[in-house]
Amino acid sequence: MKQRKWIFAGMLLSILSLGITGCDKRPDKLVSTGTAMGTVVQETLYVTDIEQGKKTSKEILSLVESLEKGSLSWRESDAELAQINLLAGTKEGILLTEQMQTDLQQIWKISEASKGALDVTIGGVTRLWDLDTWAVADTQALEQFQEPGAILLQEALNNSGYSKVLIQKGRMYLPEGMCLDLGAVGKGIACNRIREYLAGSEEITGAVISVGGSIVTYGSKTDGSLWQVAIMHPRKEGAYLGVLSLEGEWCVSTSGDYERYVEKDGIRYHHIIDPLSGYPVNNELCSVTILCRDGLLSDALSTACFVLGAEEGMKLAQEFQVEALFVTKDLEVIMTDGMAQYFTVA
Ligand code: ADP
Ligand code: MG
Repeated sequence: MKQRKWIFAGMLLSILSLGITGCDKRPDKLVSTGTAMGTVVQETLYVTDIEQGKKTSKEILSLVESLEKGSLSWRESDAELAQINLLAGTKEGILLTEQMQTDLQQIWKISEASKGALDVTIGGVTRLWDLDTWAVADTQALEQFQEPGAILLQEALNNSGYSKVLIQKGRMYLPEGMCLDLGAVGKGIACNRIREYLAGSEEITGAVISVGGSIVTYGSKTDGSLWQVAIMHPRKEGAYLGVLSLEGEWCVSTSGDYERYVEKDGIRYHHIIDPLSGYPVNNELCSVTILCRDGLLSDALSTACFVLGAEEGMKLAQEFQVEALFVTKDLEVIMTDGMAQYFTVA
């Protein structure tokens, strides 16, 4: 009798523990917000181990931070990009890390295909516009905003031009006076690195992470429903235009004239520059969203397509086989057929 009781109690315990193990394995949702790369990083992670997940969440933020500080920043003296800029004009050029070489080669391919609409050699021009100051929304700085002088701007334009740069045998040769600004691609590059990191972490089963205007999705949600990625309304703050419903791994980048801008004397000065004129782009568009599998590509093309305008931008998107969505200033939405399959109007 006593023995039977123990058997029964034993059975009960194993069912209970099965239940507990089952619960443990069901991924939890972990949401966090931080800042890195001068922008907001929002993470939604589905994790099998909550404590490990919290650690991973912090590690993702530090990954973005060290990508900026060690590689992509022109301000941080230890960053590879700052070193490249420092050695502009030297005969020996600079030896690139393998990763930087791969990324720069892809960027140059897009510059060529877009006939210079994307041109990361306009660092001299972007600095004259002081785009970083706008990012921190320093009201005093905004009040004091002035267009850079035409002569200085022309000089900076003369020092720019992706076609003047040589990338050869792992080395980069910049002409004297040129300086690179990877602002148009940095967040997309971060999305790629985040995804590589997630692929190596066992406790993350799904994630959607935004680094400013670039978003990466990975794996799946616990309930198997699709990722919902909102596209912001370019003229109504806080509202969104529509939603992309996505399965699995994607990158979505948006470039808009509403993200960083100053309005003065009826002119909207924003952070996407036409490399031909050196002035903020003034065409029929107010935002462009690109959807594809690669973060660098989505980020680079969102900037390039914005500069080109809807018609030429659409051709560029097709050439790279990505999905694109253009919003015009009168709020007309133009998109590729592929994009329409994922997009729902809000
Ligand atoms: P965000 O930085 O908000 O994601 P973008 O990806 O469109 O927006 O990049 C804009 C940034 O890229 C600017 O802040 C500037 O540093 C740089 N930039 C602006 N215009 C160009 C251009 N035509 N080609 C390359 N870089 C650019
Ligand atoms: Mg971009």
